[in-house]
Amino acid sequence: MHTIPDHPGKRLCKNSIDFDVCNWVVTRPKSSYCVSCELNHTIPNLIQAHRRRWWKSLEHAKRRLIYSLLSLQLPIIGSKQEVGGLAFEFIEDKRTNPEVFEEHVNTGHDNGLITINIAEADCVSREITRQYTGELYRTLLGHFRHESGHYFFTRLVTSESIVNDFRILFGDERQDYSVALRNYYANKSSMVRDPELISHYAQAHPLEDWAEVWSHYLHMVDTLETAAEFNVQHGSTQLDNIDQMLSKWSGLSIMLNSLNRSMGLEDAYPFVLSELALRKLRFVHGLIYPS
Ligand SMILES: [Zn+2]
Ligand SMILES: [Zn+2]
Repeated sequence: MHTIPDHPGKRLCKNSIDFDVCNWVVTRPKSSYCVSCELNHTIPNLIQAHRRRWWKSLEHAKRRLIYSLLSLQLPIIGSKQEVGGLAFEFIEDKRTNPEVFEEHVNTGHDNGLITINIAEADCVSREITRQYTGELYRTLLGHFRHESGHYFFTRLVTSESIVNDFRILFGDERQDYSVALRNYYANKSSMVRDPELISHYAQAHPLEDWAEVWSHYLHMVDTLETAAEFNVQHGSTQLDNIDQMLSKWSGLSIMLNSLNRSMGLEDAYPFVLSELALRKLRFVHGLIYPS
């Protein structure tokens, strides 16, 4: 057992000891893994050294997601505990590794299983993809947050009245998903971004709009909390107060972008939130903190 000096009884996660890709402690008595690593379904093939670096980046982003979910007291039920529970699969396709079976691995969600193409952890290729797709923001953490939105849609948008409210704001999620996505990618280059929507990709399908809004909600919550830790005036730890959060986020995101510009970097939060996008963020909040 690997206990931590000065913290008797606390054990480091096995992925910390064996692979140095985690720094959390084990919280469940019968497990060797932390609450984040316990959710792993498939880890990358580690034959090449850089894949371990990719995996470390993936785990780092995943822990940020899990931390936010824990902060918001959202249920984290793994696929080992429940059919359709949360699990993560980190795989790649022949484009980065001719040895593997899969021709094409898309990052996505299916019945609790979140798949991330591990090539997304290569920051050069991720930036090339971002430029190619014309996205304003593309990060590993963004992928985790977005895909978790698809999972939590199935958990939170359940009752008839909530589904009705969802459709008023986001549109009818029953429209054919594959057809909508095909149309989106076929027409994307000529498609003008709807300024009412939170991102360009949100136009693809109501469920993509939802996942984008969900990920922005998590961007906001985590950044507000971090800012509060550093005693920044625009920070907040009152995560149950959406009025205050949105008001603080308005100031904090401007400050964040200004700080980045002071360092010669791109805007950290290159988005403008419309009235409709704000209403959608409030809708997400209302599901996490039902009154
Ligand atoms: Zn771990
Ligand atoms: Zn999606």
